[in-house]
Amino acid sequence: MDLGIKGRRALVTAASKGLGRGCAEALAEAGVDLVINARGAEALEATAEALRAKGVSVTAIAADITTPEGRAKVLEAAGPVDILVTNAGGPPPGMWHDWSRDDFIRALDANMLTPIALMQALMPGMIDRGWGRVVNITSNSVKSPIAQLGLSNSARAGLTGFVAGTARQVAPMGVTINNLLPGIHDTDRADALDRGVSSAEGLTMAEARDKRAATIPARRYGTAAEFGAMCAFLCSAHAGFIVGQNISLDGGAHNATI
Ligand code: NAP
Repeated sequence: MDLGIKGRRALVTAASKGLGRGCAEALAEAGVDLVINARGAEALEATAEALRAKGVSVTAIAADITTPEGRAKVLEAAGPVDILVTNAGGPPPGMWHDWSRDDFIRALDANMLTPIALMQALMPGMIDRGWGRVVNITSNSVKSPIAQLGLSNSARAGLTGFVAGTARQVAPMGVTINNLLPGIHDTDRADALDRGVSSAEGLTMAEARDKRAATIPARRYGTAAEFGAMCAFLCSAHAGFIVGQNISLDGGAHNATI
């Protein structure tokens, strides 16, 4: 399918690895020129090279997207973009009674206020040009809370509330905002969580992984390529009527009728 976005320009944050990279790859395959970001310059540049091989232009900006300085650097390099995919690392696991105010502020900064700041910076240009697409990578924990990821549950719920109202305000101007909710995907982040389970429960990594995969109706982890394909579709010319949705990519893990 031709996604109808060849020659458009996208910013994908936190995109050197995992789900962000999956989105950047699928957009590159659709002919979208990219600005990508991550903190570590080496992995970021390697990803940029791989994306350039798909025939699109790629600018790579090494910066922490959760800081005002990092965002300023990325936004300056990005200039006007038609497509914004927001992503950042997720907060660490823990216990509800241990989290301090500073822990919550860090999580809110990374997973709620950063995507909001990026939307506030880039959507006015999209509105002026009458076309734009925003996809926020959130988490299935918005629908099915994961107790040990309470910092994530809290921050992402806040972002989801912001998007629910704002998506309806910008839709008349041709700009769509939607959230993509990953369930368990085969990335470094999933490895880190499996390592936690493995050490807490005295399991090998393979046992920890099998245990989590068994909780998913599809009986496997998702892939970054599957995730990226959905992201690119939401950014496509065909997705203009999809507004303010929270789309789970979770192999059926969230058990609900609707
Ligand atoms: P990942 O494989 O660990 O990749 C994270 C990417 O983000 C890397 O490129 C990393 O590069 C970059 N990054 C992290 N913090 C950053 C920051 N402050 N500024 C700029 N770049 C940053 O993670 P993932 O699995 O793709 O997860 C992506 C998001 O989805 C996370 O928020 C995660 O919590 C959420 N999620 C993932 C899953 C899953 O199963 N994978 C499930 C639910 C939710 P650098 O480290 O070099 O910056």
